[in-house]
Parts: sequence; C-alpha cells; structure tokens
Amino acid sequence: MFAIQINRTGSPDVLEAVTLDRPTPKPGQVLVRHEAIGVNFIDTYLRSGLYPLPLPAVLGGEAAGVVEALGEGVTRFVVGDRVAYSAGAGGYSQYGAVPADRAVRLPDGIGFDVAAASLLKGMTAEFLLRRCHPVQAGETILIQAAAGGVGTILVQWAKHLGATVIGTVGSEAKADLARSLGCDHVILYRHEDVATRVREITGGVGVPVAYDSVGKDTFEGTLASLARRGLFVTFGNASGPVPPLAPLRLMAGSLYLTRPTLADYVRTAAEIDDSAGQLFRLIADGVVKIEIGQRFALADAQAAHRALEGRETLGSTILIP
Ligand code: NDP
Repeated sequence: MFAIQINRTGSPDVLEAVTLDRPTPKPGQVLVRHEAIGVNFIDTYLRSGLYPLPLPAVLGGEAAGVVEALGEGVTRFVVGDRVAYSAGAGGYSQYGAVPADRAVRLPDGIGFDVAAASLLKGMTAEFLLRRCHPVQAGETILIQAAAGGVGTILVQWAKHLGATVIGTVGSEAKADLARSLGCDHVILYRHEDVATRVREITGGVGVPVAYDSVGKDTFEGTLASLARRGLFVTFGNASGPVPPLAPLRLMAGSLYLTRPTLADYVRTAAEIDDSAGQLFRLIADGVVKIEIGQRFALADAQAAHRALEGRETLGSTILIP
C-alpha cells in the first residue's frame, strides 16, 4: 500500500512516499480502508521531533473509511462499517490497523471528508468547552487562532452554548471566516495587542476562560486577558512550546492554568462514543459547519505540512489517498 513515512525528524522534506505491506489487524484492532485522512498540527510536532516518536513511522492520527477486516475479539464493528478514528499514528496511508475502541461508526449524514476533518478536532472542542471548563451562557471567552481547524469548531460550539466569543486570527481572510461562523469580536493579533482589546471588550474585567493553542507567541497576551480567578487553557504549541513559568505569576488574579490533552479526556470506547456523538449531532443539526479549507492528495503531504506551518490554511485540512 502507498504511505507517507518518516525515517528521521525535521522539515516537511522528511515526509517520504513508500510502499508498505497492508497491515493485518491484531487482536482488538480493525483494519480501515482510508477514504479521507485528517491533518492535525500534532503531525508537525511529531515530524519535527518536538514530540518524540519511535522511527520509522507513518504519521497521521486521524482518518475515515470502511472496515475491511476485524482482529480477534472485535465485536464493536462489522466488515463494511463506515468509521472514523483518532489514534496515535499510521493515518498517512491507504489502510490503517487501529484499536477498535479508538474508532466510531459514522452516522449516515456524515461523509468521510467531514469525518476526517472533524473527529479529532471536534472531540477536542467538546472536551475543552464542556469538560475542561464548562462554558456557561453569557460568558465572554477568548479563543486564540479562531480560524484554524480546532478554532472554527470551538467558535461555533461556544456560540451554541450561549457564549460571547472573542477570537484572534492572523489575516483579513481568516477574520472574515471567523465572523461568518459567529465570532463576535475578531482581533487581528499580528497588529493588535490582544490583552488591551480584551480589556476594552469586557469593560476591563477580562475573560473567565481563554483557550490558547498558539503557545509561545500568545502566552503573555492570554495571561493578561484573564479575569480574576480565570482559567488559562494552554492546549497547543503552533508557534512553539510555552517557556517554563513560575507559579507566582498566577498570583496576578489568583489564576488557574491547565495543559490538557485529548487522550486524557477520551480514554474509553464509551467516552469516544459520547464525545463524537455530540459532535456529529451538532454537525447533522447544522449547528457546527466543518470548514474544509484545503484538500491535498496523500502524495502531497509535504505541501499540506508547509501550508499548515506557514499559517496559510483556513479551517481543516485533509489528505485524499
Ligand atoms: P490550526 O488549523 O489551528 O493551525 C494552527 C494555526 O495557529 C495557524 O493556522 C495560525 O493561525 C496559528 N498560528 C499562530 N502562530 C503560528 C505560528 N508561529 N506557526 C504556525 N501557526 C501559527 O491547527 P489544528 O486545528 O490542527 O490545531 C490547533 C491547535 O490545537 C494546535 O496547536 C494543536 O496542537 C492543538 N491541539 C491540541 C489538542 C490537545 O489535545 N491538547 C488536540 C488537537 C489540537 P493564524 O494565521 O490565524 O494565526
């Protein structure tokens, strides 16, 4: 089968086209024939070496397709089921063998492209808005990188929960997208000071929760945007990891800081079914629209990574095998 593999870490150049044997599902696994593959920023961390990974490796933590074979003991699916999964690696390929409890059955109305563009990012939005900090109607919240894959889902879901949303974006085109999805206040953070604007918008109070996946470059602005006893959710490193922080800094308003990961919020089959179920219902009801800004052939994975790291993408990016 065709796959994109890395033998060493580095720039997008290390993504190499290879021919590998089709995997055989082990006990508890399903073999999925991929129809669409999700590209996530974490793929770039694994490729660059920011997050360690045993090599060689086929990147890709998310794909959608059809169950072709079942490993011993799998009762959750039957051959022919339409599924999507969010798992560790192996997605940048024509077939993936993944634990059955990392996959979900797709409702009829959810296409493979939408599933691959939304499962991992949408479950992230679910745990951030519903469990990490349960967003309340009437709250004004801050979402950094609001026009990205996760950001576009966060904005729409937060609006559905009744929040007023302040979103940051890197270009006018991204500002238009964020506004079209319901973002109430858009800050162009390459030109405007985020904390100053947040204080203006909130009458000096600040926000009770801020979701920041940009990391290093936005950390100070996010910290300075929080209300007293506000929660800083740092959940990504698109601009690089946040440097070490002295707890004393949180004294400025008795602040809270958390660094959550999806794996800790979606651990079991029941949790993945619940989180994905909420997402797919909102998509089916038209509450959350999945913006697939870019589609690349799997063979063009290098170009997909360059676009994502170059801040050129809108919404989600998928690869077509
Ligand atoms: P995005 O589509 O959001 O892409 C990242 C965006 O970050 C860019 O489009 C860009 O938007 C912004 N950005 C700001 N500074 C930089 C920079 N220096 N380099 C590159 N991008 C920059 O990616 P995803 O939706 O895949 O992921 C969003 C974030 O969420 C990532 O940080 C990812 O790691 C994190 N994540 C965390 C999870 C968790 O469990 N903790 C799970 C899933 C995702 P702009 O041009 O508008 O600034």
